Amino acid sequence: MKPTDFKHVNYLWDDEIANKLDAVERLRYRSNLLGSDQRITNTGGGNTSSKIKMTDPLSGEEVDVLWVKGSGGDLRTSTRANFASLYMDKFLSLEKVYNKAEVKGAKTEIEDAMVEMYRHTTFGLNPAASSIDTPLHGMIPFRHVDHMHPISAIAIAASKDQQRLTQEVFGGEVGWVPWQRPGFDLGLVMRDALKLNPNLKGLIMGQHGLINWAEDDKACYELTLTLIEKAARYIEQHDKGEKTFGGQKYASLNEEERNKLLVQLLPKLRGMISQKNRFIGTVHVTDSVLQFVNSADAKRLAEIGTSCPDHFLRTKIKPLYVDWNPQKESVESLFEKLEAGLVKYRSDYASYYEACKHPNSPAMRDPNPTVILIPGLGLIAWGKNKSESRVTAEFYSLAIEVMRSSEAISEYQGLPRQEAFDIEYWLLEEAKLKRMPPEKEFARNVVVVIGAGSGIGKATAHRIAKEGAHMVCADLSEDSAQATAKELIDNYGVGIGIGGTGVSSCGPAIGFGVDITKRESIRSLFEKIVLAYGGVDNIIITAGIFVSPDKVGHIPDDKWALTYAINATGPYLVADEAKTIWNLQGLNTSLVITTSANAAVAKQGSFAYDTSKAAANHLVRELAIELSPLVRVNGLAPATVVEGSSMFPRDRVISSLTKYNIPFEESESTELLRDKLALFYAQRTLTKSPITLADQAEVAYLLSSNKFSKTTGQIISVDGGLQEAFLR
Ligand SMILES: [Zn+2]
Repeated sequence: MKPTDFKHVNYLWDDEIANKLDAVERLRYRSNLLGSDQRITNTGGGNTSSKIKMTDPLSGEEVDVLWVKGSGGDLRTSTRANFASLYMDKFLSLEKVYNKAEVKGAKTEIEDAMVEMYRHTTFGLNPAASSIDTPLHGMIPFRHVDHMHPISAIAIAASKDQQRLTQEVFGGEVGWVPWQRPGFDLGLVMRDALKLNPNLKGLIMGQHGLINWAEDDKACYELTLTLIEKAARYIEQHDKGEKTFGGQKYASLNEEERNKLLVQLLPKLRGMISQKNRFIGTVHVTDSVLQFVNSADAKRLAEIGTSCPDHFLRTKIKPLYVDWNPQKESVESLFEKLEAGLVKYRSDYASYYEACKHPNSPAMRDPNPTVILIPGLGLIAWGKNKSESRVTAEFYSLAIEVMRSSEAISEYQGLPRQEAFDIEYWLLEEAKLKRMPPEKEFARNVVVVIGAGSGIGKATAHRIAKEGAHMVCADLSEDSAQATAKELIDNYGVGIGIGGTGVSSCGPAIGFGVDITKRESIRSLFEKIVLAYGGVDNIIITAGIFVSPDKVGHIPDDKWALTYAINATGPYLVADEAKTIWNLQGLNTSLVITTSANAAVAKQGSFAYDTSKAAANHLVRELAIELSPLVRVNGLAPATVVEGSSMFPRDRVISSLTKYNIPFEESESTELLRDKLALFYAQRTLTKSPITLADQAEVAYLLSSNKFSKTTGQIISVDGGLQEAFLR
């Protein structure tokens, strides 16, 4: 088979690029190419290796070094730093240590203990940690090894007659080993298989994937692609067409109907599964997913669960499938079926835990499903953050492809429950979880800042993003909202995983335009947020308007109305629309409304602004009652934040400087003029220092956070201390 014949994989190798690279970089290059195609391997799945001759820094002699993708990371995005390096001779000598153990074999104590031993074989002080798959590479006596999780190979590996199929598809060039949890013993099993049959180019790993090898790296890459292509062609020849998954039982909803239903369903569902831990959702709807959820066999196949251990660590042992007729049944009946389905799911999960647990197993984890399948709608995945829920969506959609392929050529089978449990509750996995840093304060939360395009709103979005929030940046100016979201993505990364449809494929921050004087615009904002993340938690409103008055403090009537519409009615409309979603979710959260120190001080010069902010202060109190006990509502009352404020445009700054007889030059920059004004204002406060955006953002964050969990209906001034603005 020539690379130009490939139909099911893309041949991407380029000698011009590869030949300029050193041996380790060539491994990195090969890994990135393989990882870039979902049909070859999943996000974070699979590993690659090269045994490279290098000079030993200790002896100056040439030694063989095993470079192998280390623990964590992802082939598509791997850099040199993601590869561990081990002295080959030292690695091989570990077999003696292993053999000394009285009890050995898969899942024995010595097998887990071997993982720690790999560190003793490190070449070149490389800090990258070796993964549990290291022996799969080290024990194979060929220079280059690829271990992938290709859909077509897992389909064979997850079929009832996997051994026979391996022979039929590959005609003896690829062997087969039964399922075994990866570790030192599996490396030995593979080496033995190769000793028995030295002509083997690779192995199908039962219920798991593919491993293959070659003496040359480009040849290894080409072999990987060739084997995947062969399997995919065999599956294609047996495709069941319309009879796939037993044929279609239900029809899909169109996009408009689907989104309308999702907007009601997602917050409700999020609340149902988030009683213990809050989850972030991803909606994944492709033709292939719809074909599965609408099919006659979906119920049976969903119950079997996923096969590849990489997949089910995220998707859980099985998804929750809800048998609901999208054409004939009501939304209420969908909610009822979900409720009942979740009760059954949790009790199944607890039984699975009880039946499979060992005396030293970690405590039972959250028993809620992470994948929910609904006919007509598609797949909804849940995770502790956007990245994880996107990966979960990706993995189950890959599992669907595996089931389609396997059912085309044979009968699909899942991993035995005990084996699945021993992966899910593996003490090594538990240790990995325990090593992870504690979750940040706003992790698992969707925080909306309205007014995030500039000033206090932008500073607040940056402040809260630091605490791990999923940030929705909203602003009248969609461009500036998206610019803030982009800054956050640039800071924190877009995350991993390629799941998610439409707006749901977003990263941890997103920007939208909204006009808070219009209910429809606010409603549409919340609909988009729900589709993107599955719900809404904290909301902070910093949007406001100050229309410069004439000399006696008056502004035109239409500007008076606009001032009220933005400063007082706007926050009310936002709260009123959010209430529907908050009530569906039933999760505790908070609302912060930015008012102003002006609300408390009667003075001459700005009727509209001051009275609208006084109304906003009282709105805080009324909403605190209206939205209790679910939502805490507090006000943030800044004064004279001049720094970077859109409410202090150049002309307002100049008119203020003139009013207070502060000397300035027309040629000075706006920022410089603002600094002068800020210093002047500072002198009028008790603390005598300029009030910054960061000061406001810090209090917006604190009021939103659980640090203020017992405070509601209050206004906190951040004004440097203005005696006349004291609330009483
Ligand atoms: Zn694997």
